Amino acid sequence: MSFKPANNIQDLQYFGEFGGVNPSISDSSTYTFLSAKTMFDTFEGNADGCYLYSRHTTPSNLYLGQALAAMEGTETANVSASGMGAITPVILQLCDAGDHVVSSRTIYGGTYAFLKNFAPRLNINTSFVNITKLDVVEAAITPSTKVLYCESVSNPLLEVADIKGLAKLAKKHNLKLVVDNTFSPLSISPAKLGADVVIHSLTKFINGSSDTVGGVVCGTQEFINELKDVNSGASMLLGSTMDSLRSASVLKNLRTLHIRMEQHSFNASYLAEKFEADGLKTVYPGLTSHSSHKIFKSMMNEKYGFGGMLTIDVGSLENANALMEMMQERNLGYLAVSLGFYKTLFSAPGSSTSSEIPKEEQFEMGLSDGLIRFSIGLDADIVRTYHMMRSCMEDLNILDSKRALQVLV
Ligand SMILES: *Cc1c(COP(=O)(O)O)cnc(C)c1O
Repeated sequence: MSFKPANNIQDLQYFGEFGGVNPSISDSSTYTFLSAKTMFDTFEGNADGCYLYSRHTTPSNLYLGQALAAMEGTETANVSASGMGAITPVILQLCDAGDHVVSSRTIYGGTYAFLKNFAPRLNINTSFVNITKLDVVEAAITPSTKVLYCESVSNPLLEVADIKGLAKLAKKHNLKLVVDNTFSPLSISPAKLGADVVIHSLTKFINGSSDTVGGVVCGTQEFINELKDVNSGASMLLGSTMDSLRSASVLKNLRTLHIRMEQHSFNASYLAEKFEADGLKTVYPGLTSHSSHKIFKSMMNEKYGFGGMLTIDVGSLENANALMEMMQERNLGYLAVSLGFYKTLFSAPGSSTSSEIPKEEQFEMGLSDGLIRFSIGLDADIVRTYHMMRSCMEDLNILDSKRALQVLV
């Protein structure tokens, strides 16, 4: 593929109003009009290039949206105050009361809780399925299904969706395929594979500095206009708007995403191979042992690798907690939820980010108590990091004693 996402960003030219190399930040909630007629036209959505009120759109938010649309290869995009502030309006825009969603069962805990507990209050119901089985997905589609929802790489189990296959199903049954691409920016380009709407939590890799929450919806001009419609748009009316000061700072961080993703992937892939060789149950899409390795490979933009997320199973929650505390003490990362930071972050999903999912369902999905989710950082010397992590495991007797002996000898 001749697709160069980072260069797509690089090809955009913005200037500040005094010729600054960064666009000026629009520090206003409202905008003046020279004529009353233009104000009316803007309300009606008929005055391109005019701004009305910042909940609708701001120049700074448009710049960031444009850059993210260029990255994902969609016509346009709309940024929001958080990832959930992108996901919930999309579902509510696409579904009326009585409509149905078919969703992957391994999705971000907040999205799961919204679909499972909140949307039914509006009579929007969801069937949760194993997204890697296309026949199971198709069997769950009913005449009232409107949306097929998944994450390209799922949280926290790192299941990989066959986006091309799902896009075919969506076309056949006249559904919208909505893909949350938060775990694999640049590595996977869902819109190029047939997704109708691509969502990101900007909070994670894209912003990459764990200093804010943010989100984006990438899609067609028509769909984004619907979301922003002053009379009927879920984004406009629910009001999850990103602030201009913040979108300017996210835009600056976005510029180094391609370099960061390469390093996250390089480090994660090194550790995954080592952990697996040490006999730990390791899940990483870059490992040939991963059940969706081939699918990921067939979809990916090689250069950016298999991403920065991996999980290991250390047998029990006590082991997981002891290991995480020791790794933090030895400055190998932070015991924290979220992802995409320069430092490694680790958490036990069963008792944190996926705690919205009932225990029996966690078990059924393969979400075990000893699971640790890692967002691997930008460590310059990953070999040293590995050795230090390994000594933590040895000190806690986590590695199978035979393997540990072999390596020591
Ligand atoms: C964090 C996350 C979200 C939610 O984003 P917020 O910015 O926290 O609202 C959605 N999907 C995935 C995959 C996430 O990791």
